[in-house]
Amino acid sequence: MCGIAGYIGSSDAVSMIISLLLELQHRGQEASGLAIALNRGSISVIHSKGLISDVFNGKLNDEPSRDNNVFGGIGHVRYSTSGGYMNSEVQPIVLGDNNFKIAIAFNGTIANYDSLAKEFDIKRVSCDTIVLAELIYRLAREAGNDVVEALKILPNYVVGGYSIAILTSEPRVAIARDPYGFRPLAISYIGEEFLFSSETAALETLGFSSWKEVLPGEIISFNGSSLESTKTSVSVPISPCVFEYVYFSRPDSVFNGVSVYIARVKMGEELASKAPANCDIVIPVPDSGRAAAIGFSRASGKPIDEGIYANKYVGRGFIAPPMIRDTISKLKYGFVKSIISGRKIALVDDSIVRGTTLKSIIKRLKHAGAKEVHVRVASPPFKYPCFMGVDVTSREELLAWRMASIDDIARSLEADSIGYNTVEGLRKAVGIPSICSACFTGLYPFQGIDIEDLENMFIRW
Ligand code: SF4
Repeated sequence: MCGIAGYIGSSDAVSMIISLLLELQHRGQEASGLAIALNRGSISVIHSKGLISDVFNGKLNDEPSRDNNVFGGIGHVRYSTSGGYMNSEVQPIVLGDNNFKIAIAFNGTIANYDSLAKEFDIKRVSCDTIVLAELIYRLAREAGNDVVEALKILPNYVVGGYSIAILTSEPRVAIARDPYGFRPLAISYIGEEFLFSSETAALETLGFSSWKEVLPGEIISFNGSSLESTKTSVSVPISPCVFEYVYFSRPDSVFNGVSVYIARVKMGEELASKAPANCDIVIPVPDSGRAAAIGFSRASGKPIDEGIYANKYVGRGFIAPPMIRDTISKLKYGFVKSIISGRKIALVDDSIVRGTTLKSIIKRLKHAGAKEVHVRVASPPFKYPCFMGVDVTSREELLAWRMASIDDIARSLEADSIGYNTVEGLRKAVGIPSICSACFTGLYPFQGIDIEDLENMFIRW
């Protein structure tokens, strides 16, 4: 999971892209960058490890100033799912020569990047993005420097998920979602202004309320005056990532026409019917458990209150680099003793992946005087890895995989009970007939490729 964004239009492209990326910071906290194309054909890039506020510190308070030589640009916030945090290739990645240059910003994971590197004799294999960038560049060169033609045939080569933006030195920008539609991507096109963003919320926040989601398999290109839409010829059943609704996306975003917030509330309602709790009060794990807790409270008739304070300045624990996750889970939460003390609590969280954060929260709730803590989870047990854009690529790191039963999970977390939503309840809450839920079911949407194949092809750092 990363965030991508871009802008071509009459306003200051750098300011617009930085603003869009700020709205996408929840999708990636490790590195930030942008690439700008000039009308005369060159591409320049600024990128570094750190948040938007670190990397573009000097730019955040600048007055926007339009430079007529600028065509527009693309940007990226990174959450590494391949290549590791320390070795991560910060994006956008720029490739090419004086004749033809491209910059790539990518959200997803390419599971077979190592075999692609061997097949195409690509020497730099530090992560999937660099292999993907090389592959697209070569396909585009073979097609007469045409990135749209490269994107049309890309699904024939890659196994994984991608939403991608490519800026070329022509200049032109091309964006695409893979034919499964795993990751979100939306555009706004009004007059001569073209913007895109991983999430609709970023467009809305900047005042662009007239947007459209890029369809699975759709490729959109814009050269500054005309916008063209085409599709890859590869046809597969669509499988948008259900975890975007559970955790990743902002609640004020829409994904596949479904409000993320409403889907989360419905998950909570489903959860209350499938796993009721003998409790006095419902308390959400902030922030991503909040909407599900509201649904759980509504459906169960139990009052809801905020007993846990989340320090937003610490960042999102799940997408933080592994070496600082424990520190984040310790520093992030504060507890309101007057709400917690003496109560039987239904603690509602969106999901349990590794369990590190939740165990520490339960311990501290009890320390704050909670009589009982009954964990209720808005999604099913997360048992299988993801190779389509989430940094969970081995079963061993997953709590639900390691434990033999639900009771064992409760014991390991030191909770008084635990109850999960079901896959059916999750699908009902989202309301889309065809959706990826492989991390809960182990059933991946790639034809003829199962979990062992994916584990064997994906090279971990
Ligand atoms: S396996 Fe899970 S996290 Fe990965 S794309 Fe599918 S639903 Fe999303």
